[in-house]
Amino acid sequence: MKLKDVKNLKQIKVLGKTYKITWYCDDTPADDGRMGYTDMRTSRIYLYQPLTNDSAAEVLVHEVLHILNETLQVDLAESDMVRLGSGVTAFLLDNGVLP
Ligand SMILES: [Zn+2]
Repeated sequence: MKLKDVKNLKQIKVLGKTYKITWYCDDTPADDGRMGYTDMRTSRIYLYQPLTNDSAAEVLVHEVLHILNETLQVDLAESDMVRLGSGVTAFLLDNGVLP
């Protein structure tokens, strides 16, 4: 799938587990300014619908890092995941692929 299709994603798989994606556009549930978050309990990723496609890709990659961080017990800090997310997204953009 090309990166341009990110905003059409309805679900993704991470380590064999399916995570449904909810695109939201109001202030809730991310009323603290986040552009996305993941509910590990329900295996659901929430992404802010008004994001541009490239920004949505970066937020999605960031949420995947959260999932990997928790599932693999890597213990990365939020700031680490922000920087790694930017780097991985740049790699995906430069090569035109996601996921
Ligand atoms: Zn985060």
